[in-house]
Amino acid sequence: MSNDAIRIQGLRKTYKAQGNAPAKDALKGIDLTIPEGSVFGLLGPNGAGKSTLINILAGLVKKTAGQVEIWGFDQDKNPRQSRASIGVMPQELNLDPFFTPRGALEVQAGLYGVPKSQRRSDEILKMVGLEDKAHAYARTLSGGMRRRLLLGKALVHHPHILVLDEPTAGVDIELRQMLWENVRKLNRERGMTIILTTHYLEEAEEMCDEIAIINKGSLIARDSTKNLLGQLDSRTIVIDPSERPDTLPDVDHVRIETREDGTLAFHYRASDISADDVLDAVRDAGIRIRDVRTEQPDLEDVFLKLTRAA
Ligand code: ADP
Ligand code: MG
Repeated sequence: MSNDAIRIQGLRKTYKAQGNAPAKDALKGIDLTIPEGSVFGLLGPNGAGKSTLINILAGLVKKTAGQVEIWGFDQDKNPRQSRASIGVMPQELNLDPFFTPRGALEVQAGLYGVPKSQRRSDEILKMVGLEDKAHAYARTLSGGMRRRLLLGKALVHHPHILVLDEPTAGVDIELRQMLWENVRKLNRERGMTIILTTHYLEEAEEMCDEIAIINKGSLIARDSTKNLLGQLDSRTIVIDPSERPDTLPDVDHVRIETREDGTLAFHYRASDISADDVLDAVRDAGIRIRDVRTEQPDLEDVFLKLTRAA
């Protein structure tokens, strides 16, 4: 038995041309392994191919070429076992409006052939905080509740691997926290391998041990979160001075940019100098600070950096 939960080789997906839409190469040959027991982040801008990759893992989209192994089972040779090993919470809120949450979990369990004696619908409803909505109709559930139900549905067959596609896009902070608590618990207490997509870097930073970044259907980075963010210690402090200064301070490790709106941007690396020292240098130069804000590097910067390098 290998220690990889997922092994992907040469994965390609071309969506066929439809009507006016031309054919689309959504995945252009992805090689990727995801270690067992990890919380793994799949990042990328909109349209990068994240959902396509995940939907292929889930068996919802048919790949054009390549090999996919899930929990050691080849998706083509052992479709049943590979499907049983993975639970997917999709990006789309596609719920049958005529089922109650409890009914939806039972139907899902039935689809996966989970015998009645092994079903844990009530436990799952409790876990996702829907126990008091067990018998409500899906169409009466809020967006957040639907999302939680989708998480529950992904868990009915006790999968080794849980995949979450943009689980927190557009959800409120409370639900986000709840989702992450659940996910952490599943990872820690049951050793479940978690794969999630997001375009929030801070979320990935907080949750994920390892990260892969895809862009335009290609893998452009794959590293531990620590290493990846380590490349990104660039910082910017933007100062709105009370008066336009005659001379600019000369600070080691800091590049100063005068912007058209009269603000001054101080670019530096967090590993070279602290924000405190930058601000001290500004004051020492006699510049009075009317307002100050920071510009954090974000995923955008990682992409820019990586796509430029490529
Ligand atoms: P992401 O999840 O990273 O935003 P997707 O996997 O949804 O990216 O989409 C990747 C590319 O494939 C996009 O250009 C998208 O428009 C296209 N695409 C996705 N699904 C389909 C589909 N069913 N038919 C045709 N093109 C699609
Ligand atoms: Mg998507």
